[in-house]
Amino acid sequence: MFSPVSILVVTVLSGLMATAVLGSLVPAAIPGLGCWIAANTLAIVSLLLFATQGHVSPLVSIVMANEVLAVSLLLVLEGCRRFLGRRRRMFDAYAGAVAVLLGINYWTFFAPNFDARVAVASALHAYLYASIAWVVLRGRPADRPAYSYNFVTIAALLFCFGHAARGLIYGLGELNQTSLMQATPINAAFMGIGILALPCMSTGIVMLAHDRLAQRLERLANVDDLTGAWSRRAFMLKAQTLIDAAARSSRPVALAIIDIDRFKLINDTYGHAAGDSVLTHFAALVQRNLRAGDVFGRLGGEEFGVLCPHTDVAEAVVLLERLRERLASTTMPQEAGMSAYTFSVGADQHRPGERLAALMVRVDAALYTAKASGRDRVVVSA
Ligand code: GH3
Ligand code: MG
Ligand code: MG
Repeated sequence: MFSPVSILVVTVLSGLMATAVLGSLVPAAIPGLGCWIAANTLAIVSLLLFATQGHVSPLVSIVMANEVLAVSLLLVLEGCRRFLGRRRRMFDAYAGAVAVLLGINYWTFFAPNFDARVAVASALHAYLYASIAWVVLRGRPADRPAYSYNFVTIAALLFCFGHAARGLIYGLGELNQTSLMQATPINAAFMGIGILALPCMSTGIVMLAHDRLAQRLERLANVDDLTGAWSRRAFMLKAQTLIDAAARSSRPVALAIIDIDRFKLINDTYGHAAGDSVLTHFAALVQRNLRAGDVFGRLGGEEFGVLCPHTDVAEAVVLLERLRERLASTTMPQEAGMSAYTFSVGADQHRPGERLAALMVRVDAALYTAKASGRDRVVVSA
C-alpha cells in the first residue's frame, strides 16, 4: 500500500547513494561538482524535514523544508552553470526563490493556506527545472556526444512539467488536502515524480561529469600539450578521413609537411626553453592563418603537418608562402631571446587511388629537397 513515509525513506537512501557516487569524482576537480554534492545533501535534509510534518513546528517541517529544497535546486542549477562555464549568474532564479519563500512564510503563519503554498513552491520548482534544461541544452559543447546532455535536459523538462501540473492542480484548490503526507492518489502520483527526481538528476549529473573526464582523456591523447596542435595519432586519423572523403567526392585535398629550419642550433644557442617558445610561436602563427576546416598537427619534434581539404596544390602553395611571409614579418616573443627563424615545406595534393602512407613519403621527399636546396622555401613533390 502507498505510504508517503516509505517513499521518502527510499528516496533518501537513493539520494545518499548518489551523493557517494558524486563524492568519488571529487579528486577530478570537476567545475560545479561541489554545488551538485551540496545540492544532493540538502535535498536529503529537506526530505527528512518534510517527513516531520505533523510532529514538529511548521517552521521546521514546512518553511525550512521548502527553503532547503529550493536552495538545493538552485545549487543544481548553479552547478550546471559552473560546469558549462556560463558567465551569467541566475539572478532571476534567486529572486524567484526569495519571493516564493516569503509567500510560504505568509501562507504558513499569517494566512495558512496549504494549496497556495504547494502552488507557489511547485511554480518555483517548475521554473528552476526549466532553467536547468535550458542551461544544459544551450551549454553542450558542439564536439561532445549529446547523450548525457540530452538526458539531463529531458529529465529536467519532465520534472518541470510535473511540477507545473502539480502547481496548477493545487492552485485551483480542488483537492481539499492539508498535508503532503496524506495517502491520496494525487499525492502518490506527485511523490512518484519526487522520488524519481533526485536519482534521475544525480544520474544525469554523474553522466555529465564522466563526459568531462572522457573529454580530458581524449584531449590528452589527441592534442599536443606544448603547441595545442593535434597529436600525430589524431592528425593521421583525420588525414585518412579527409583522403577517403576526397576520393569519394573527387575534390582535391592538399598535404604539407613543415619543418623548422636549424632548430637544433636554436636549442643549442639559446637553450631548450627558447626552442619551446619558438614551437608555440610557430603553432600560434599557423593556427591564426589557417582556414576553417584545415587540420594542423605536430608530427614530432619541430615537424608539423597541415591538411587542406577542397584545396589543390597551387592554392596550398599560396597559403604556405603567405605563412612564410607572415613569419618573416612577425616579431619574436621576448622569452625566445632571438630575432627570427624560418621553416621549410614539402607539399602536394593527394593523387587518385594513392594511399596516405605513399602521399606522406612523396611530401617528405619534397621537404628533403627544400632543405637540401637552401631551406626557407616551399617545394612541391615531383
Ligand atoms: P633542419 O634545418 O635540417 O631541419 O635542422 P634541425 O636542426 O631543425 O633538425 P634536427 O632534426 O637536427 O633537430 C631537431 C631538434 O629538435 C633536435 C631535438 O632536440 C629538438 N626538439 C625536438 N622536440 C623538441 C621540443 O619539444 N622542444 C625543444 N626545445 N626541442 C625539441
Ligand atoms: Mg628542422
Ligand atoms: Mg625535423
